[in-house]
Amino acid sequence: MGFPVETRWRIYDRTSGKCHLCGKKLSFQNYGIIGAPGAWEVEHSIPWALGGTDHLNNLYAACIPCNRGKGTCSTRTVRAWNGRTRAPLSRTQREAIRNRNGWTGAAIGLAIGARSSPGAAVVCAIIGGLIGDSIKVH
Ligand SMILES: [Zn+2]
Repeated sequence: MGFPVETRWRIYDRTSGKCHLCGKKLSFQNYGIIGAPGAWEVEHSIPWALGGTDHLNNLYAACIPCNRGKGTCSTRTVRAWNGRTRAPLSRTQREAIRNRNGWTGAAIGLAIGARSSPGAAVVCAIIGGLIGDSIKVH
């Protein structure tokens, strides 16, 4: 397939190197190599046949079985087969969520702690931040 390597990297990174349909880990080097471990292809979320474009927004990394099996089914349908509702997150998105969870935890801790004493509020904010940081993001 005619995608330059930088484009492929960007597509691969969008989902942290996972198949956007089943979440399986893909191997960047094994792009287009059928039968190789983690082999993958660039998948059009909206298929060409249904008017999808080559714009990055429409392109996702998918393992070859998923890509070939998808046909003209919608992305939503195929993700549902795999019990998923959305694509795996990119590393940047995961970090953004982790930071947000940290701040939410800190805010909750602060609110709870503020009811007892200002000193306790700070301690709770720190603990809340740590709990928030440890919230699992897949
Ligand atoms: Zn897959």
